[in-house]
Amino acid sequence: MNNKSLKLILILFAVIISCSKDSENNTAIIEDENGNPMEVDTSENKKNVGDSANDLLSSGSFEKLVVEILYVGELNPTSATLDNFEEFLEARLNKPQGIEIVQRQIENEGQEVYSIQDIRNIEDTHRSKFNDQGTIAVSGIFIDGEYDQNTDNGSVLGVAYRNTSFVIFEQTIKEFSDQPLAPSLTTLESVVVNHEVGHLLGLVNAGTTMQTDHQDIEHGRHCTDDNCLMFWTAETGEGLLNMLTGGSIPSLDASCILDLQANGGK
Ligand SMILES: [Zn+2]
Ligand SMILES: [Zn+2]
Repeated sequence: MNNKSLKLILILFAVIISCSKDSENNTAIIEDENGNPMEVDTSENKKNVGDSANDLLSSGSFEKLVVEILYVGELNPTSATLDNFEEFLEARLNKPQGIEIVQRQIENEGQEVYSIQDIRNIEDTHRSKFNDQGTIAVSGIFIDGEYDQNTDNGSVLGVAYRNTSFVIFEQTIKEFSDQPLAPSLTTLESVVVNHEVGHLLGLVNAGTTMQTDHQDIEHGRHCTDDNCLMFWTAETGEGLLNMLTGGSIPSLDASCILDLQANGGK
């Protein structure tokens, strides 16, 4: 056996150990500020999408937000995307102690197709930011490969899958942005990131109570306004090519903003 395959087996073994440990104990080992291993409770970050909408929107329990972007290989978002994302968060969230976005490269997983369980396992292996006293943490993974739920006319670009977790299928986004007349990479990334975080904020009717009737029930937790960021076509490549005619990033419509404001947001 060569060194490379031995290393791979050791990595796989480590992944399996940490997964079973995570699911049983809801703990993870992270580094403290001095680089020493420290066990933390992860249960507050393993709830369902929308369960932390109020905690994210209001300053009641958490006055600060930290977003940890984990990216495979060179699949990090553009700096303009991160600016747009931060602007979106600042506009809607009450976080008087601030909003911080940090980035870290993770090992290339090398899979062609990922299920949500695969994504959960990757998060459980690599995530290092969890809720801690007055700070709420969100994890965003930018991954290679594609989603296992894709169809011929629906290439999913992002999924919100836990109360403080979303995944962006960055390789799929790059393939769409490379098509002729397609919106820029930054535009596609920004729409999908903001849209997925919109789900974490409880939109639509999923953790944040609707103030007016605007849920597109046929398409799940989405908004009936086809100009709104939370319209259902905003998370597939095919949908976005149709939606983004002017190349500008859709914002939340008045109904979605009203919902967020009624649940502690701005
Ligand atoms: Zn959506
Ligand atoms: Zn809306």
